[in-house]
Amino acid sequence: MLYHSTRSQQNAVDSAQAVLNGLAPDGGLYVPTQLPAMDVADCLAQDTMTMAARVIGAMLPDIANMPELVQKAYTGKFETAELTPTVDTGKFTVLELFRGPTSAFKDVALCMLPQLLTAAKTQKGMQEDILILTATSGDTGKAALAGFQDVPGVGICVFYPHGGVSRVQRAQMVTQEGRNVAVCAVEGNFDDAQTGVKNIFLAGVEGKRLSSANSINIGRLAPQITYYFKAYADLLRRGQIQMGDKVNFSVPTGNFGDILAGYIAKKMGLPVGKLICASNANNVLTDFIRTGTYDRRRPLHKTISPSMDILVSSNLERLLYFMSDDTALVAELMDKLNKEGLYTVPQELKAAISQEFWAGCCDDARTRETIRRVWKEQSYLCDTHTAAGWAVAEEYVAATGDTAPMVVLSTASPYKFPAAVLSALENSTEPDEFKQMKHLCQLTGVAIPKNLQGLQEKKELHTGVIEKDAMLSYVTAL
Ligand SMILES: *Cc1c(COP(=O)(O)O)cnc(C)c1O
Repeated sequence: MLYHSTRSQQNAVDSAQAVLNGLAPDGGLYVPTQLPAMDVADCLAQDTMTMAARVIGAMLPDIANMPELVQKAYTGKFETAELTPTVDTGKFTVLELFRGPTSAFKDVALCMLPQLLTAAKTQKGMQEDILILTATSGDTGKAALAGFQDVPGVGICVFYPHGGVSRVQRAQMVTQEGRNVAVCAVEGNFDDAQTGVKNIFLAGVEGKRLSSANSINIGRLAPQITYYFKAYADLLRRGQIQMGDKVNFSVPTGNFGDILAGYIAKKMGLPVGKLICASNANNVLTDFIRTGTYDRRRPLHKTISPSMDILVSSNLERLLYFMSDDTALVAELMDKLNKEGLYTVPQELKAAISQEFWAGCCDDARTRETIRRVWKEQSYLCDTHTAAGWAVAEEYVAATGDTAPMVVLSTASPYKFPAAVLSALENSTEPDEFKQMKHLCQLTGVAIPKNLQGLQEKKELHTGVIEKDAMLSYVTAL
């Protein structure tokens, strides 16, 4: 299957090469010339791993041995063999994407990406080692480190802003074991770390092929399609729907990768109804889906759902292509975004997007109120991102009267954001995150995930802090 850039049909490559390249040479994102159709009923009858092999195999048919790669990626790493369980709360169904090795939804993709990359590398006869370079504001770093730990032929280096991640997030990263991992703090904020990484990509590192673990890579997006099938299969098994019934999904959204996977699942034939795009106070996507104008010229708000604090959602570019089938239009819009900071899509495209998507935003106060209410009424403890998804799902139902079953995607364990979740439940003045976790556990009886327990006692292996100008020499010396 051929992939080309969202911005031109030139230089098409096969799916294995698209995974190796990450970004297309013209700066666009790789998209398949045609999305594959699935035998949906047959896929839904399988266990999660088989489902994953079918779905990822359909998206990346040029990578061989997919069932084996899936087994290697996931076996023994998740809390349950179904990987992404669903919970019927009595109101909405919650799809728990955080049962992986680092309690972040990014584990679903970042456990699989190393398998895809190394398989593609072998198939293409690539000799050089790959070095994964990532700047992180928190969650991606640890999930990438865990995914790439001790993978042969690949190294990983993560930079995070010194003092700019939570204590739990820092502890997760600096205790990371593995022969091929490097973690380093940078004096500066997340933007400084990210700019530093971009500069290393521009400069290059001798003898190494640089690559990134972020969601522009089609190898990170493909594994996320599976859990939409899995959630639908669970509703079928519980007798809550009949085959063919539409199901709505509400997705806490940042870079638009997670929700785009739902759109692809729908195009593959899964009976998806509306895809609900939930944002926090950074509501650039809400405005876009409602008006057709994407305008990043606004301040970035720091919120209690930090993984959604984003002004430019890179995977939206793929949606624009899928819905318009027009690379020249996408190239023009992206150029406008880059130069002027905004673009407006043609009226027909706006209308087509509104058919598939609905959008809303939820500020910190409503996020806290939702956590408290869902705990009280449904006895379900959710994190801040999930709460935003829940609140916007409620808003959608109230606004439209749509009675189709609703699945809310849960993207993080509540224990990854203990301060915010605790403050939603009671007036707490405890400043220590590890004590907050314990307290939250005593208060609710919800178990702390194993990988977060005992984190405080683990040995710190990566304590370096460097100036931002020293990032390139740090990587060269690895
Ligand atoms: C990354 C992340 C998101 C956003 O997902 P996108 O695919 O970037 O839209 C939401 N919640 C959490 C907890 C995340 O880590």
